[in-house]
Amino acid sequence: MSDHVIALDQGTTSTRAILFTGTGDIVSSYQLGHVTHTPHPGWEEHDPMLLLSNSKQCIDMCVSEAGERGVLLSQIVAIGVTNQRETTVVWDRRTGQPFCNAILWKDARTSTTVEEIASEITTRQVIDTTGLRPSTYFSGVKMRWMIANVPGVKEAVADGTAMFGTIDTWLVWNLSVEAAYVTDVTNAGRTMLMDIRDRKWDKTMMDLIGVSPAVLPDIRSCSELFGTMRDTVLKGVRIAGIIGDQQAALVGQACFNVGELKNTYGTGCFLIVNTGEEPKFSNHRLLTTPAYQMGPNAKCIYSLEGSVAVAGAVIEWMKDKLDFINHASEIEALASSVPDTGDVYCVPAFSGLFAPRWRDDARGVFTGITLSTTKAHMARAMLAGITHQVNDVVRAASEDMGADITELRVDGGASVCNLLLEMQANITGTSTTALGAAFAAGHAVGLFQSEEEFAHHWAADRTFTPQITEEQRNTELCKWEAAVERSLGWTKV
Ligand code: ADP
Repeated sequence: MSDHVIALDQGTTSTRAILFTGTGDIVSSYQLGHVTHTPHPGWEEHDPMLLLSNSKQCIDMCVSEAGERGVLLSQIVAIGVTNQRETTVVWDRRTGQPFCNAILWKDARTSTTVEEIASEITTRQVIDTTGLRPSTYFSGVKMRWMIANVPGVKEAVADGTAMFGTIDTWLVWNLSVEAAYVTDVTNAGRTMLMDIRDRKWDKTMMDLIGVSPAVLPDIRSCSELFGTMRDTVLKGVRIAGIIGDQQAALVGQACFNVGELKNTYGTGCFLIVNTGEEPKFSNHRLLTTPAYQMGPNAKCIYSLEGSVAVAGAVIEWMKDKLDFINHASEIEALASSVPDTGDVYCVPAFSGLFAPRWRDDARGVFTGITLSTTKAHMARAMLAGITHQVNDVVRAASEDMGADITELRVDGGASVCNLLLEMQANITGTSTTALGAAFAAGHAVGLFQSEEEFAHHWAADRTFTPQITEEQRNTELCKWEAAVERSLGWTKV
């Protein structure tokens, strides 16, 4: 009777529970989507209670399906949590009730907060301390906004009854008997409050944001005993893993050596390159962030990250707001129905641009539209916009690492789209290799004993190689730059 492990993957568009065998095979999985509330332009929120109830339901349904396949409850030895990062919740310690909806990682409401912060501390100091740049992206900035704007939070912070947390913290506090108030280095490293070197909350940054350790969780490694499940069918099972979803994908792609990298095409795109045991700082505006720490006594491995705010989100937009398609999977057929974009370019800077430009003031643009432009051209231009943004971070990573990048390992919901990966290979000039995203979570929750054993299971699924000439690529890049110029500064006009 082999041991099984369950991964709870709380993402931006959905929550999934996936049950793995001890050799990494998926036995069952269950997924539930949830709405993103957009009460004002640029605002994006999730209901923390819904994320919690969906998590519980996914666990119960996943285990029940596994039961139908002969897996006994006693075979499930641990649960690991992987989560959308930076998204921030604040709740009342006494009642467990959130003060407001969770503010999403890509919510742009805090641009004024970022400006305030920029007048109080230099960007250099923030980078040196936390590895991050002041941006609407990070949890600490959202906390400062909540303290200033959400009724009751300021008082609750002052009397220590507030609890701030990223989604991992919110879930584990609610799911564990111990009400464990914990996070891991990969999530803490995205708050703009953690010292990147000693991985502890930093006094200067806490003062800047207006919080104290009393209202922040303990920072732990990614793989240790965090608590015991309080309810669901898994009552009594150990909670043994916490890792941010993008770092889980790095591990899932077996990028254990310095210089190995992956790119995930989810709601956003996140390129992460393993840089080893010391934090490495970027000359090209990439972030320095913990990659993983597999145990309290294990060394922390660091990485450089290029985050792109909007990737799969354009596909969702085409479906939900433009009615171009009824399901995300239809994007491939629509965009493939034309041979090119008809010289249309789309910069999907819906909530500003993240790496490597970091421009909160950018907004989305379409350019090059003529009377011959069809939905299909626009759809194809949107996919191209994803691949151009990824190419920008690939180039930045390549320069920081002082090495050519020849292979891009990819995963995430939108990576099932072959056209997207073909276009990526063309514009980046690298081979692009896909692997199922679900596999990622398995390792993160301690499914494998060693990195070697895990890497052994890594297998390419589909590989794409560049099919355009250098000249064609250069023309594309030139036009992309011109389109980006048009998107910058829009909120200031
Ligand atoms: P997240 O964790 O951010 O929710 P996922 O890895 O679950 O991300 O990916 C979700 C994204 O994948 C969505 O933006 C969705 O539009 C996109 N997606 C899902 N299925 C397809 C498909 N068949 N073709 C293209 N994109 C898809």
